[in-house]
Amino acid sequence: MAATPSDREQLETRLKGFAGIAAGPPEIARDVVEAATIRHWCDALGDRNPIYTDPVAAAASVHGRVVAPPTMLQAWVLPGIEMASGVARPGDKQRELHALLDRHGYTGVVATNCQQGYDRYLHLGERVTGTTVIESISGEKATALGIGYFIDTRTTFRDDDGERVGWMTFRVLKFKPATPPVASERDAAGAPVEPRRLRPALGHDNAWWWEGIRRGELLIQRCKSCGHLRHPPRPMCGECRSLEWDALSSKGHGSVYSFVVMHHPQVPGYEYPLIVALVELDEGTRLIANLTGIEPRAVRIGLRVALAIEAVDPELSLPFFHPDTTAPG
Ligand code: ZN
Repeated sequence: MAATPSDREQLETRLKGFAGIAAGPPEIARDVVEAATIRHWCDALGDRNPIYTDPVAAAASVHGRVVAPPTMLQAWVLPGIEMASGVARPGDKQRELHALLDRHGYTGVVATNCQQGYDRYLHLGERVTGTTVIESISGEKATALGIGYFIDTRTTFRDDDGERVGWMTFRVLKFKPATPPVASERDAAGAPVEPRRLRPALGHDNAWWWEGIRRGELLIQRCKSCGHLRHPPRPMCGECRSLEWDALSSKGHGSVYSFVVMHHPQVPGYEYPLIVALVELDEGTRLIANLTGIEPRAVRIGLRVALAIEAVDPELSLPFFHPDTTAPG
């Protein structure tokens, strides 16, 4: 349903009222900077720098003691599971802003940019407080995901003495999904429309790849200068920065490099549990695809898989992989 200009003007006037105000009350870290959380973070990211976890090595470093990884800055003030509770904190203007856009049909949300800056390292025992300001809301923009508004926020992180230790800017797009995957949709005759898979966001840099899939071909982008293979498609070679490229056609064999089995959240149009695999193609690059024809509990890293490009609806074909019965274990 298209908004009339006056609807949109009214909305934009209300949106302007959010620019420059506090996004909510200060977020005070639930816990002080402490060793266990740092260790979990380093484990998860595979960061082996001993200045974060080894007091002896840290003492011998320029820091003289254990410091927290700077990129943990926001992690200290996150409210944990409360974030998913749906219960707004008093004065949560950011949630109010999102709810306003939701009511006008801009129900999609995607994070598009994040920057952080660090004034100094944090030490064990310090407690961080974050204060966030809604800096700006853009005019309505057309994007590959749908029309929407960009919301910029800036968070300032301070120590116990109120000194700034770092900052973060964050941009989200609140958008009207181009094809809402809702089960309640009805066609012109009033019959329920089968929910469909999300559409890929097509653009100059990737339309050729999806065209290949439509033809039944899995293409791999190849740098013309150094021969490096890359996926997903993008304009520049990450190895040599060349903009010259061509593509080769994959033979469609590979192995499972990693995978997850998704149970929740269940998006309409998909069957669950959904196996999402990172497949290492024999040609030497990886791509993410769904694995079919196998029980989730039987999937193993290293499993040999073969490609099958299938139409999931009349407009969309996708590459799927299934166990490769022609190859040894
Ligand atoms: Zn290259």
